[in-house]
Amino acid sequence: MELTNLTVREAHELLKIKKISSVELTQATLNRIRDTDSKIKSYITVTDELALQQARRADERLAKGENITPLTGVPYSLKDSLSTRSVRTTCASKILEDYVPQYNATVVDKLNDAGAVLLGKTNMDEFGMGSSCENSAFFNTHNPWNLNHVAGGSSGGAAAAVAAGMGAFSIGEDTGGSVRMPAAFCGVTGLKPTYGRVSRYGVISLASSFDCVGPLARNAYDCALVLEAIAGHDSHDSTTYQEKVPQYAANLNKSIEKMRIGIPKEYFVAGMDAGVESALQEAIRQLEKLGAEIREVSLPHTQYGLPVYYLLQVAEASSNLARFDGMRFGMSVSKNAQDSLDIYLQTRRDGFGDEVKRRIMLGAYALSAGYYDAYYLKAQKTRTLLRRDFETAFASCDILLAPTSPMPAFKLGEKINDPLAMYLSDVCTVSTNPAGVPALTVPCGFSNNLPVGMQLIGKHLDEQTLFQVAHAYQQETDWHERLPSL
Ligand code: GLN
Repeated sequence: MELTNLTVREAHELLKIKKISSVELTQATLNRIRDTDSKIKSYITVTDELALQQARRADERLAKGENITPLTGVPYSLKDSLSTRSVRTTCASKILEDYVPQYNATVVDKLNDAGAVLLGKTNMDEFGMGSSCENSAFFNTHNPWNLNHVAGGSSGGAAAAVAAGMGAFSIGEDTGGSVRMPAAFCGVTGLKPTYGRVSRYGVISLASSFDCVGPLARNAYDCALVLEAIAGHDSHDSTTYQEKVPQYAANLNKSIEKMRIGIPKEYFVAGMDAGVESALQEAIRQLEKLGAEIREVSLPHTQYGLPVYYLLQVAEASSNLARFDGMRFGMSVSKNAQDSLDIYLQTRRDGFGDEVKRRIMLGAYALSAGYYDAYYLKAQKTRTLLRRDFETAFASCDILLAPTSPMPAFKLGEKINDPLAMYLSDVCTVSTNPAGVPALTVPCGFSNNLPVGMQLIGKHLDEQTLFQVAHAYQQETDWHERLPSL
């Protein structure tokens, strides 16, 4: 038995019957990180001491048999955009390189309460801006399946860590695909929950009306367990739902007989990778065999998904990132400064990377008095059309099925000098965020020896059906069990 490849569920079973201890499991995972992460580079910070301390506490809890949850003693990693008290939180930006938050994100508090063990903070595109993890100010993360390829972004470190056995699950953040795309590229399961299902308190904002915190894990069952632990209303985040969190994992074994699965034709784009397309077709056949009813549907405004997303996202980002002023958080460049404006300008010049600066400029432009109506307002109206597309489709379907990405992981360096090509790679993930609906990516095959992801999109607050279909699929297939050879 390889401890570092255990699923959350398997780890929990073994911890509960005391076949293994959390200290043992955590130490094995830390050793794996020490031996493997120099190749992958998924972690920005490894919190060895804290992890072992939390593991010892989890073992005490397990010994007493009190207050045990499915995550007690299970080691995980956290995207470096979620605030952790006393643990450096960088957002992969130089401007926050030495920033140590005073408080935990609500999600972190919840995971602490559940007894999960934090291994460290994972690499990402700076402030979540990117699709390849190459916009990190520190280093690139490599795809565990092929080290010359990207891990995907922006939560690339989170996905690579799970794929390479460096944590049983990870927490990422998805504004336009940042959980789903890297999960698909690295061959793991990842969920963007409904907007408002999981608290954003303590998450360093990219675009506040899009940002969603979600789990990455080895299968849908594990994602269900993690979502149960992190979801729910939070008095610190007024956009969170009051609705009770369902017991997702306990209700996964229902048949998917007669489940109506819509295939939005606009997502099967021209120029899509042939290996991705055939993997998807095979997955559709598999679901049909399980009794699902497949039907073609149309989301007619899909072509506006990218422009809507890249207008509204940059607008919100330009406003959110105004807080990094050289005075309140992180870095401050005050050398030769005459006044506070000098500090502000110098800090932002030296602290932000090119992509961040590009988006702040684009966002400020779209929000400026002369262009507000033409860009920002127009995009907001079109956002409503995107949302209505989903509402219409869900009148005749229970879920939708699409590729997570039109191609498998591309090569490091392939798109980094062409921002537009990079933005285009998000074509299959960006529309769900303006609409707020949940979406889950599940491994469904390989193209050129690189993993392919199938995306399941659900109704607002209906993560349950996504998990149910994914679980049924994963009972019949073993794509999610394949491991990269490292
Ligand atoms: N790739 C998208 C972007 O660059 C998604 C980012 C995200 O979801 N955080 O904006």
